[in-house]
Amino acid sequence: MMDKLEEYLRKQNDMLLENFNYVKEKYLTIWEYYNSHMKDCIRECKNDVMNDLTGPQGIYWIGLNTKIFIIGKENIGWFDNEFSEESTMFKPIEFAYYVVRAMPNYWSFVKELIQKTINPEIYEKPWIETLQYVSFSNACKCMSEGKTNQERLLCNCVADSSYQYIRKEIEVVNSKVNLLFTRNYRVLEKIYNEESISQVADEIDITRHEDMVLIETRHPVRASDEWKRKVIEIVKANLQ
Ligand SMILES: [Zn+2]
Repeated sequence: MMDKLEEYLRKQNDMLLENFNYVKEKYLTIWEYYNSHMKDCIRECKNDVMNDLTGPQGIYWIGLNTKIFIIGKENIGWFDNEFSEESTMFKPIEFAYYVVRAMPNYWSFVKELIQKTINPEIYEKPWIETLQYVSFSNACKCMSEGKTNQERLLCNCVADSSYQYIRKEIEVVNSKVNLLFTRNYRVLEKIYNEESISQVADEIDITRHEDMVLIETRHPVRASDEWKRKVIEIVKANLQ
């Protein structure tokens, strides 16, 4: 009676592990980079409001055939109180695989975007199949567990260009389209220093770097439907 269920679960697990094994080197390269910068970063990001910093909030997920790399500012909801390198490496992957699909707000727009640009059958297919085409991360690497959402966003590493975490992640993930919801901080300008950044629509900037397209825009929560349509249209056009 359990054969079908067991077979289903085994298939999901195999696909998850296969994806992880295939991109393991990428995770390791990125984590080595965090490890060599995080101590200084925490020291510099500490301030009166955020004095209990730890980190990093690592990259959440790298799909083995990534078409879009999506970078938010930071996220809450995936981390627990225990902090160790092993748990911080594992938790984001667990988060992307088991939690994101049910998350509202920011993540519901991310899922709509993936559905409308890459995978129209997202809700019928196993989540792991969809995840193979995307990678997720966040711009803020320091984290303050005790503070409110707004206060957490004060950390310098979102806006400070000295650590270049995002640039490193973008290089390693190597996705054709990179979508950053960090326009308040002008991260693109800081990491690529390029004059070729142009505004293509309201609150949407775009530039090219080597073979990649980089799009930076506002945070999707409380954005207009018109903006959502526009972002989806731009991402879709650049995936061709
Ligand atoms: Zn920091």
